[in-house]
Amino acid sequence: MKSRFMAAVCAAVVALSLGVHAQGKGGAASITPAELKDWLSYIASDQLQGRQVYTEGLGLAASYIADHLKEWNVKPAGDDGTYFQVVKVNGVNVTRNSSVTVTVNGQTKTFKDGEGVTFPANAGGKQTVSGQAEFVGYGLSLPEAGIDDYKGRDVSGKVVLYVGRGPKSMPAGGNRLLGARARNAIELSHAVAAIGPSIGGGFGRGAGAGTPAATATPPATATPTPTAAQPAAGRGAAGGGRGGANATLGDFTTVQRLDNKVPPQITAGDEFFDFIFSAAGQKYADIKAKADGQDAIPAVALNNVSITINVDADYTIVQTRLTRNVVGIVEGSDPKLKDTYVLFGAHYDHIGYQQTPPRQQPASPQRPQGAEAGGGFGGGNAPGGCTGQQRDTPKAGDVINNGADDDGSGTVGVMAIAKAFATGPKPKRSVMFVWHAGEEAGLLGSRYMADYPEVPLDKVSAQLNIDMIGRNRCDEASEANTVYLVGSDRISTELHNLNEDANAALAAPMKLDYEFNDPADPESIYTRSDHYSYASKGIPIIFYTTGLHRDYHYVTDEVGKIEFPKLAHIAQLVYTTGLKVANLDHFPARDNKGPRKGKGASGKIGS
Ligand SMILES: [Zn+2]
Repeated sequence: MKSRFMAAVCAAVVALSLGVHAQGKGGAASITPAELKDWLSYIASDQLQGRQVYTEGLGLAASYIADHLKEWNVKPAGDDGTYFQVVKVNGVNVTRNSSVTVTVNGQTKTFKDGEGVTFPANAGGKQTVSGQAEFVGYGLSLPEAGIDDYKGRDVSGKVVLYVGRGPKSMPAGGNRLLGARARNAIELSHAVAAIGPSIGGGFGRGAGAGTPAATATPPATATPTPTAAQPAAGRGAAGGGRGGANATLGDFTTVQRLDNKVPPQITAGDEFFDFIFSAAGQKYADIKAKADGQDAIPAVALNNVSITINVDADYTIVQTRLTRNVVGIVEGSDPKLKDTYVLFGAHYDHIGYQQTPPRQQPASPQRPQGAEAGGGFGGGNAPGGCTGQQRDTPKAGDVINNGADDDGSGTVGVMAIAKAFATGPKPKRSVMFVWHAGEEAGLLGSRYMADYPEVPLDKVSAQLNIDMIGRNRCDEASEANTVYLVGSDRISTELHNLNEDANAALAAPMKLDYEFNDPADPESIYTRSDHYSYASKGIPIIFYTTGLHRDYHYVTDEVGKIEFPKLAHIAQLVYTTGLKVANLDHFPARDNKGPRKGKGASGKIGS
C-alpha cells in the first residue's frame, strides 16, 4: 500500500513540474481549479487521518507541501535549511507571586494573586503596570445594540474596571463579547490593564487570544470542559493534547515566550471592588445589585483611585511536545527591498478522527467533535450557524474529519500562490509562505512563528491569512462570488484599499463582504485564526474566508463539496493583493484606526 501510494505521489509531482515548465509563466493565471483539486484530493484524503496535530497524517501533509515547494524552487525558510520550523508546545507550571495594589484617597491595599484577585496562569513576563482607575460599567461597546459604555471616555493609559454580564439588551451570542471585554479595552481603547468580575467560570479571564493569557488551560485538577466564553485558543490548548503527551501535565500549555510582557487581564471579587468604590459616593453593593439585575449601571467617576499591578510569576517547563510549521520563501528582485517580506498563511492541520460514531440519522443536528462548546463557530444548534439546515448523513463508519475546506482549501490556496510567485514574475520584496500547524489546537504554529520568527517581524510589511475559502456560506448559491474579509482596515487603512484595488483589477471582481469584521459580530472571528498572532504584534493583516457551512468540523467536510473555481478565484485575489504590497516602495501605513467596515459595508476608505 505504502510504496505504491508514494510512487503515485512522485509520479504526480513529476507530471506537475513538467506542466510548470511547459507553461513557464506563473503569476495569477497559473492558479487553476484543476491543480487545486489535485492537491486537495491528497491533503483531504482519508490517508491523512484528518491531519490532527501530533499525528502521522499531519506529517504526511507537511512532506507533501515541502516536496512541491522544492519542485518549484521555493527556498526553504525553516530550521537549518529545511522547509520545517519545529514548534515547541510547552506544558508549564507556575508559581504565583503577582499582586494588585490599590490606592484610594491615599489609603492603600494590596491584593495578592488568589486572594481577592486572580491573574491568568500565564500572566506573561515580570513587569509593573500602573494607571488611574476608570470604571466603564459593563465594559461593552456595541453601538449597533445601543450599548456603549465607553462613550465619551478616554481610557488610554488607564486601568479599566468593569462588572456584570451585560444589560438585558445584550445581543445573542453575547458570551463571546463578554469574554472579549478585557482584550477590547486593551487593544481597541488602549487601556494598560483590565480588571473584571470573576463570574461564570472566568469571563474576561484569559480572553486575549493573542496574549499568553489565552493559552492558559484550566488547572490540571479541573474538568477540561471549556466555558462558552473561552476563545478558540484557550479551548484548543487542552484539546490539543489528545494525540500527544500528557495534556494535563503543567498548569498551562503555551508555544509563546514566557518572558513576553503582556497587558494584565485580571479578575477580582467583591472585596476588591468594595475598596475601589469606597470613596466614589456610590456603594459597590448598589452597583452590583444593578449588574445582577442586568439594569443600567450609573456612570461613576473614580477620583483619586490609582492601581499598580505587579506581574510576578515564575515558570517551569514540565513537558514539551513538538509539531512543525512548513515555511518557504521566494526572494524579491530588488536588492534593497528583498530583505523585507509579505507573509501568506494558512493552517494545514485539522481535528483528526471523530471521537464519537457519527449518527446515521441526520434528524437532529449534533454538535461536531472538536468544535468548541457553547454553540461553536456559528452558534446555536444549527450546524455551522446555518439556520434550518441539517448535516448530511455520513458514510457508515466514516470517522475521519477530512477538513477539505477547513483548512485544506487554504493549504492548497497558499501552495498555488507560492507556485505563482516561484514560477512567475518576482516582486520587489520577498514573499514568505507559512503553513501553520496546530491552529485547531489553539493557534500553536502561528503563535510560535510570531514569537520565534524565521524572518525579523519588523521586516514584515503585511500578513495575508486564508482559512476556509472553498465553499459558499451555508451552501447558498447567492454566495457564489462572495468572500468575507476580516481585519483589513484595523491596522492599516492603506492595506484595506490595496486589497480593494486588487479585487477591482481582477478579470471578474468578487463581492467583498465585511460582515465578520464588525466589532459587534458575536463570533469575534478577528481573534480566531492565525492572522491574529501577527496582528497582535502590530503587523497589518487580512483574513479571507468564505464562511461556515453545515459540514464545519465534521466528517462530511470533504473534497466533493469544494467549489474549485471559486477557490482559485480567491487565491488569485490574495496573490494579486500580496503582489501589490510586495511591489510597494513603502510598508502599508499603520494608522491603527480599528474596524470601520462592518455589515453591509463595501469599497475603499477615503483619506
Ligand atoms: Zn480553520
